Amino acid sequence: MDFYSRQISKLIEELSRLPGVGTKTAQRLAFHIINMPEEQVHGLADSIMEAKKNIRYCKECLTLTDKELCPICSSSGRNKKLIMVVENPRDLAAYEKTGKYDGVYHVLHGAISPMLGIGPADIKLKELMLRLQGDVDEVIIATNSSLEGEATAMYLSKLIKPAGIKVSRIASGIPVGGDLEYIDEVTLLRAFEGRVEL
Ligand code: ZN
Repeated sequence: MDFYSRQISKLIEELSRLPGVGTKTAQRLAFHIINMPEEQVHGLADSIMEAKKNIRYCKECLTLTDKELCPICSSSGRNKKLIMVVENPRDLAAYEKTGKYDGVYHVLHGAISPMLGIGPADIKLKELMLRLQGDVDEVIIATNSSLEGEATAMYLSKLIKPAGIKVSRIASGIPVGGDLEYIDEVTLLRAFEGRVEL
C-alpha cells in the first residue's frame, strides 16, 4: 500500500476493516468513493454518522431501531402474545421478508457458546424473561441450527417451560450450522410452519 498517498491508504485501511471486505475490494471502494461527486460522499458519510448516533435497541424486542419502539412492536396489527426469539436483527429481517409472520420478536444479540465463553448473562435473556411475565401464548425459538443456536434453544426451553408458556422450535430443513439470513424464504416458511413443541 506504499504506492498510495497516506490519505488513500488510510481510507483503504478503514474500509478493509468492514466484514467481508478484503484489501482488493477496499481499494476498489476507496477509488470509487474518491471519484464520487462530493454531495454523494457527504450523503454516505452523514448517513453513517446519523445511524451511529440514533440507532438504539427497541424497548420491547431489542432489535435495532431509531425510535423508542421498532415499527413491528408499535404496530397494532401484530400479535403480541406470540414471540419469536432470534439471534440478531438480520434473522428478524429474514423472517419479516417472508411476510407471513404476524407475531413479534425478541432479539438475543448472540447465542450461548461455552467455547467462546458466552454465557446466558451475555445475551438478552433477562429481558426476554421479563417480557414473559406479561400475557404470552407461545415462544418460538428460531435461533440458528449451529451448536450455539441449539444450546441456546435448549437452555431457553428449560427456562420458559416451567412458566407454563408453550415453547416451540422451528423445524429442521435449515442446514446444520446454517445462518438464518442466508436461507431462502420458502425454506424459512417451511421451518416456521413445521415448528415442533418442545
Ligand atoms: Zn421492537
